[in-house]
Amino acid sequence: MSNYIVSARKYRPKRFDEVVGQQNVTNTLKNAIKNQQVAHSFLFCGPRGVGKTTCARILAKTINCENPGDDFEACEECASCKTFQENGSLNIFEMDAASNSQVDDIRSLTDQVRYAPHTGSYKIYIIDEVHMLSQSAFNAFLKTLEEPPSYAIFILATTEKHKLLPTILSRCQIFDFNRIRIEDIVDFMMQIADKEGIEADRNGLHTVAQKADGALRDALSMFDRLLTFSGNSLSLQDVLDNLNILDYDYYFKVTDALLAGDVANVLLTFDDILRKGFEGDVFINGLAEHFRDLLVCKDPNTVSLLEVTGDLKTRYQEQAALAPASFLLNALNLASQCDMNYKTSKNKRLHVELALIKMAHISQAVELATSQDGEASAENARSESAHSSQTAAKKKSVSDLQDSQSTLTTDTEADQSGNNEPLAQETSNNTEETNGSGNPSGDEDNHVDTEQVSDEGLFARANDGQSTTEEHELSNSSIDVSPQDEAYPSEGSTYSSENEDETQFHPQNSADDQSHEPAVSEVSEEEQQAHLTNNQPQEKEEEGQETNGLLNGTDDGSQESTQEWQGEASEHPSAAENPVETMTEQEPQHSAKETSPSSASLQEPQETGPKESMNGSFTLSDLRNNYITNDQEQEQQVAEPESAEEVLIDQDQLLEVWQQYTRELYDQKRLSLYGFMKDITPQANGPAVEITFTNRLQEEIFSNERQKLNEYLKQQLSVPYLRLSMKMDKNKESQPSNRPFTAKEKMQKMAEKNDKLLKLKDELDLDLDY
Ligand SMILES: [Zn+2]
Repeated sequence: MSNYIVSARKYRPKRFDEVVGQQNVTNTLKNAIKNQQVAHSFLFCGPRGVGKTTCARILAKTINCENPGDDFEACEECASCKTFQENGSLNIFEMDAASNSQVDDIRSLTDQVRYAPHTGSYKIYIIDEVHMLSQSAFNAFLKTLEEPPSYAIFILATTEKHKLLPTILSRCQIFDFNRIRIEDIVDFMMQIADKEGIEADRNGLHTVAQKADGALRDALSMFDRLLTFSGNSLSLQDVLDNLNILDYDYYFKVTDALLAGDVANVLLTFDDILRKGFEGDVFINGLAEHFRDLLVCKDPNTVSLLEVTGDLKTRYQEQAALAPASFLLNALNLASQCDMNYKTSKNKRLHVELALIKMAHISQAVELATSQDGEASAENARSESAHSSQTAAKKKSVSDLQDSQSTLTTDTEADQSGNNEPLAQETSNNTEETNGSGNPSGDEDNHVDTEQVSDEGLFARANDGQSTTEEHELSNSSIDVSPQDEAYPSEGSTYSSENEDETQFHPQNSADDQSHEPAVSEVSEEEQQAHLTNNQPQEKEEEGQETNGLLNGTDDGSQESTQEWQGEASEHPSAAENPVETMTEQEPQHSAKETSPSSASLQEPQETGPKESMNGSFTLSDLRNNYITNDQEQEQQVAEPESAEEVLIDQDQLLEVWQQYTRELYDQKRLSLYGFMKDITPQANGPAVEITFTNRLQEEIFSNERQKLNEYLKQQLSVPYLRLSMKMDKNKESQPSNRPFTAKEKMQKMAEKNDKLLKLKDELDLDLDY
């Protein structure tokens, strides 16, 4: 017992080569010795337990060694080295400034400095925690520090460099010690285990190193403590049990459950964790770290930041692939909020549980939010099939969510979407059918659905019935169904199965249809074809929306909007989004009233598109968008005749080119511009492109890019002339306009309060980054 030495001391490095994880420092020191350019004052900064004192001692020993080797390490054999090994050297003097912080302590030190060493050539003074020295002690020390005797070397060590006065910093050669990498700590402990004949599990040591947070000394003292418990073998479980560390399995398990939205499982796991004696904040912090690790796994460039061993790494990568970044970011946010308020919360368990429940709903909330955004953008980008089908996928997941809320079984939903999707593709030349989400098998499902919906659902159905009816009347004006059009009957039957009251409209509709039937199409075959390909992906989307609308509560807004559109029957609803399209398509659309089935069906989804989205998930922003688009419609009407001569920019094409440009920005890693441009929806207005900002920072960032973007758009849209107009949307402006954003603005703002600042800036010749 008496000769037991803790590992941190027993295996304290004796040579620069043995120092773990501080190669930059040790190499510099060795070079300094080699070139005989050893400074007289050093400042070693860095976290505790990373080797500052160790390096200071090695330096002291090496420069006093009588026969340094070729590699400029101490020989360990000469008299000087031996006295160092026995801790008997008089040439090294250590002082802890934390307990000797007064001016008298420094005076006694500087008194000692006056005496040259008896043996050896240098005296080394190590002052630990130097930031603890009092002001007067510092002042008393400055003179000696600046001009020490030739034999004296001062090594100041601190964990808090920022607390030191500039007068001290400028007198020292500063070495920053790194936090030691986990892998290095593990390797070092493995070496010790080998030497001691201990069987240690690498994963266990890894956990120890993680807990040590970069401090080798901490890791070694934990290692010693574990060995006294477990004897000659050390397993991961020993480590977890003794260090009160939660097994990462729990984090994987909880994250899986959170991703699945399985609240019950999450809460049960948390209960299990509490039963094991872990505090809620330990768990939530561990979970946050787990999310962070998953987040760094998502980008191949940051995987190296994940400090875990091989098999665990694959596990992280697998889970990271399943967890969307939006989920991880939101969950991290919730975890940090929970941690911040943990101490003040009265019911700590509930506090953590609440955070977990919120996390479990993130995926759903994100999907809802993106689908609402997505509706608007999907309408814009309907020509981009990839994008549309992506949005359609989102829609589906939203309807998943909504279904589960309205007590529908997910099986039914799965059936429904499963049935509809392939159908949408195979009957893509038949918009009517997919639009009505109708297919023979789908009918049954829909029927089941309506029976299962709650009162709320019934209300929604009634409402929706009305809007559907009106929509139908509206669409009848433009839709024609020829006898060979198989889609229509199935659509009709869908509606009737959805709502019994509606059956009456079916014959009426067909009667209407037949009245239009004889008319002949003026739309060319080519044009139809083009429209078909354009519309094809969107139909799936529409279908999703339709289903949503049927199953979900809708507001009066839907009805209102329908009437609005009805009133403007000649207007193309999608004109709002696609002004140019309006111009080119209006004619066909008017004639579409008496046109062939295929061209008629083309018009249908565009008309129902915005409306369905209103039905599907009606929000204030929908309403607002609706008003905005209506306004724009009127503007367009005025603008159209004027710009008819010029080359017009197609909105769809513009959006596509815009996306292409932002993607390129992303690839070029110009992320700030990318982040801002991807949020902006440019508006084609005749030959001009309008861009609306919501704050001045955007404008500033953008103005640098303007020229380039203009050229790019011109080229990609193949127009000879393009005007890029930028305007600030005061209503949307997210920040008060006088709020400073850029460094320049901030400087001006501060200068308003204190005009000496500008003077100071000039006198010091400061270069602000603007
Ligand atoms: Zn020696």
